[in-house]
Amino acid sequence: MTAETAPPVPEWQPTACILCACNCGIEVQVAENEIARVKGDRAHPGSKGYACEKAQRLPYYQRNPRITSPLRRRPDGTFEEVDWDTATAEVAGRLAAIRDEHGGETIFYYGGGGQGNHLGGAYSGATRSALGSRFSSNALAQEKTGELWIDAHMFGRVAHTAPDFEHAEVAVFVGKNPWMSHGFPHARPTLKAIAGDPERALIVIDPRRTETAELADIHLQVKPGHDAHLLAALLAILADEDWLDRAFLEEHAANYERILAAVEDVDIAAYCRVADVPEQLVREAARRIGAAESVSILEDLGIQQAPNSTLNSYLEKLIWALTGNFARPGCTNLHTQFSPNGLFGRSRESRRTTPGTGERVIGGMFPAAAIPEAILTDDPARFRGAIVESSNPVHSLPDSQRMREAMAALDFSVVIDITMTETAQCADFVLPALTQYEKYECTFFNLEFPVNVFHLRAPVLAGPEGPLGEPEIHRRLVRALGAIGDDDLDGLREAAREGLDAYAAAFGARMAERPHLLPLATVALYETLGPELPDGAAAAAALWGSAQMCAASFPDSLRRAGFEGDGTALGNALFEAALTSRHGVVFSVDEHDANWRWIAAGRESGRIDLGIDELIDELESLDWEPGAADPEYPFVLSAGERRSNTAMTLIRDPSWRKRDPEGALRISTADAEALALADGDVVDLVTARGRCRAPVETTDAMRAGHLALPNGYGISFGAGGPVTGVAPNELTDGTRRDPVAGTPWHKHVPARIEKVEAG
Ligand code: SF4
Repeated sequence: MTAETAPPVPEWQPTACILCACNCGIEVQVAENEIARVKGDRAHPGSKGYACEKAQRLPYYQRNPRITSPLRRRPDGTFEEVDWDTATAEVAGRLAAIRDEHGGETIFYYGGGGQGNHLGGAYSGATRSALGSRFSSNALAQEKTGELWIDAHMFGRVAHTAPDFEHAEVAVFVGKNPWMSHGFPHARPTLKAIAGDPERALIVIDPRRTETAELADIHLQVKPGHDAHLLAALLAILADEDWLDRAFLEEHAANYERILAAVEDVDIAAYCRVADVPEQLVREAARRIGAAESVSILEDLGIQQAPNSTLNSYLEKLIWALTGNFARPGCTNLHTQFSPNGLFGRSRESRRTTPGTGERVIGGMFPAAAIPEAILTDDPARFRGAIVESSNPVHSLPDSQRMREAMAALDFSVVIDITMTETAQCADFVLPALTQYEKYECTFFNLEFPVNVFHLRAPVLAGPEGPLGEPEIHRRLVRALGAIGDDDLDGLREAAREGLDAYAAAFGARMAERPHLLPLATVALYETLGPELPDGAAAAAALWGSAQMCAASFPDSLRRAGFEGDGTALGNALFEAALTSRHGVVFSVDEHDANWRWIAAGRESGRIDLGIDELIDELESLDWEPGAADPEYPFVLSAGERRSNTAMTLIRDPSWRKRDPEGALRISTADAEALALADGDVVDLVTARGRCRAPVETTDAMRAGHLALPNGYGISFGAGGPVTGVAPNELTDGTRRDPVAGTPWHKHVPARIEKVEAG
């Protein structure tokens, strides 16, 4: 083959990895409309070329079996294809009928985006508003709502924090294995750098000797379910040995006297004993934290989905707060957000409670674990309709069997997704969407300080005929519901043609004149500004609103990042940069003093409020055996462990896993010996809610009495296709959840194992 006849080398196109919340910038080469090669994108201002090995598996995501037509359930339970006009009219009509008869608040919304796709979620608010739907939830409401609730209490308006491990002298991970689950940029190189530096230290609190714990200077291998005891003992030692930063507390904190008194009452020896960690090791960890110039701490699902989960988060935050490790390099800091009204910008508790269960709604999200109860209750305000988007609650929420019953009890449900998920298989209608590489997409996981990055990705693949992007799906539903009329948008398209300044003036005037349009603003933007955006980027129109809110909330941060102008002109400058920066854009740059300005902007005292009476009460009455199990179930199962070969449920093709194809149950070597089990033996794993069969993997990294199943297994490759491995939530129980935030205890499921005899 000569140089003239050789096929051209495909160009590298910028996009992002969607397999964890870091959303590293990547570049892909496309061949025959498939992702052929993947590499880290050096031009991405956040990840700067870093990508872990998981990104190489993205081609499998694109190979998920697709739905290419709207599907309507027949009376016999099977699905039939219908055209989009029929689907839009029927879905809007069925949801409107529920609204008209029972009220829009009986229609709940679940989802709005996974690790990489939040743009659709931005548009869903318009559909919800058109229906009067008031309750929504998503995966965060079974993970982070307790932490968000505490952040809101501590800080007020700007209420989400970022660690700074790159500059921290001491890094502490609590129920978090960043070697596998990442959670901050450049996780692996940063962990290696800390571990390799004798002047720095890595401390890990985890029942398992994880890959991160293997690197640690101090590993506190806590007994499952006793994190609160260990964290309380750690705090008590900091107080007892006078490692607290009293000057910081005096100047910057409020309401800390009662928590100090509670901590000082802790019986350190007894708490270490019940947590089953040597007191001397806990003291060593406390001294290393207390003596450090800078400490960063990160918690994750290991404590957020375990007994006392909100209390655990509170105690974790008190470690950096009481030692003054805040608003400095290497410490905890607040951060800007591209979408200040989005995921992490509205953490406060609302006055609403869920129907039938009366639980808190935090950050606009009701506890995901309570969904089946809110459907299956006799309460007249029970949920009767559901819109599920880019999410799979039948698989991801506790007690899948009960969730399937709840789906069947709804008057109507619609799922918007790319493939027939377990939830789609239970729905009345399924609307097919484009994948994350076939449309404009972004995430609002902009969680960094002092430099924060936003990345709008352009499509790199052509989608099949049939599926639509979520903005178009929501536009059609909103129009079918009659929530926006042509006269509402008169003149806005013409203004958009004149430019962003004219558009900002016209849009602002229209919203002031017709305030009922405000909750429908994303669809109004999509219809009027969208067609004028270059390169078919209509779906990005909603970001104009986010850019304006970002500019209004963080003008100094934007100016430090190089954006100019005042008011809407500053927002327009940010929007244009986001639209045209294919590799991502730095949208804010800050100095550490910004932390205090942000707190003062929302709270007159400008202080961090450390007193949360409800949690101090819980600490003072802490059970010695939280979540105590029935003796019939002597093991504690961690249901949903992140391993190198797990990727949530985004990739359904089982052939992508070269190792651990069945998702082995990990068991300690000591327990395996006692039960005469060897690697590969098959056991039945039994809980109060289910029974599943899995091969075992014996390991000395587990504590005796502790079991772990991986997440992301137990999904079908196409409706009716083969299911590989155990779906963890066939075993979990949604009623075992945190009393404050309703987060389920996936990491603490009482279980027993029964050996399956060969043959
Ligand atoms: S760290 Fe996360 S986003 Fe980055 S490449 Fe790995 S899985 Fe993808």
